[in-house]
Amino acid sequence: MREAKQYSRRELFTRFARTQTQVIHEKIVISNTCDNIYGYCESCSDSCQQQAITWLAESKPVVDHEKCTLCKECIISCYISAISIS
Ligand code: SF4
Ligand code: SF4
Repeated sequence: MREAKQYSRRELFTRFARTQTQVIHEKIVISNTCDNIYGYCESCSDSCQQQAITWLAESKPVVDHEKCTLCKECIISCYISAISIS
């Protein structure tokens, strides 16, 4: 029979804290290649059902990370792949 690995309290806390940190730090990022800086595009803000993306004239859109659920719809909608999760 295999023995179960025993973790110290410190190991358990460190592993849990690292997982939580990774989740908290993941967010949608819009790069400066966004076509709306040079032309006109609002595909990503149209695709966001959470209304987490605010379209701005002659600028890249702004993401409200409090509203964002990381559903990735905006990433799919961007035809020049200017959106990523970082
Ligand atoms: S990942 Fe989803 S919720 Fe977040 S900004 Fe993009 S479309 Fe909106
Ligand atoms: S869909 Fe892409 S190119 Fe269009 S506004 Fe959003 S980030 Fe910019």
